[in-house]
Amino acid sequence: MEALKRRIEKDGITIGDSVVKVDSFLNHQMDIALLKDIAQEFARIFSDVKVDKILTIEASGIGIAAITAIYFNDVPVVFAKKHQASNLSGDVYETKVYSFTKQKENIIRVDKRYISPGENVLIIDDFLACGSAAAGLAEIIEMAGAKVVGIGAVIEKGFQGGHAKLTEKGYRVESLAIIEKIVDGKLIFAE
Ligand code: 5GP
Repeated sequence: MEALKRRIEKDGITIGDSVVKVDSFLNHQMDIALLKDIAQEFARIFSDVKVDKILTIEASGIGIAAITAIYFNDVPVVFAKKHQASNLSGDVYETKVYSFTKQKENIIRVDKRYISPGENVLIIDDFLACGSAAAGLAEIIEMAGAKVVGIGAVIEKGFQGGHAKLTEKGYRVESLAIIEKIVDGKLIFAE
């Protein structure tokens, strides 16, 4: 998605050679016009699959998934929680996810009421790096007896191996902008 790549180039801030901050338009302040374009692109790419529900992870995935759902006929969005919240019923699917940016392991959870056997679930997230978050979400979907119909990432860091790890497990992975590498603070995109 060219407009997205240009926006990351213009407003993304690199930290070292592996982290990209996109707070000014994606995961702190959100550019809604861009998010609508991103959502429509996901809808176009996954137009061949039946999607009953979108699953993401708090916090940055929520806004993206919510706008994306509008273009999938207003399907419900569920987000995995990183904290033991009082509004969870206690009957949850949970798994461990290693956070690359925070360098620690989190337990993520989804209330069992919100994913049902047989549902077709699309995973949406802001970044795909090592693939740990997406793999954890996929595991939860499968624990529920539902099906992972695809994984959509807005930005993939192609040099961190997540894409290969997920496709090896048999998942379809689609990213809207793939950063091949970061050299001296400059982003190099895959074609
Ligand atoms: P993974 O689990 O694929 O290693 O990392 C994906 C998760 O970590 C995403 O949910 C995202 O929030 C966060 N993440 C990974 N790399 C970056 C990055 O370079 N920038 C930002 N802002 N978040 C990242």
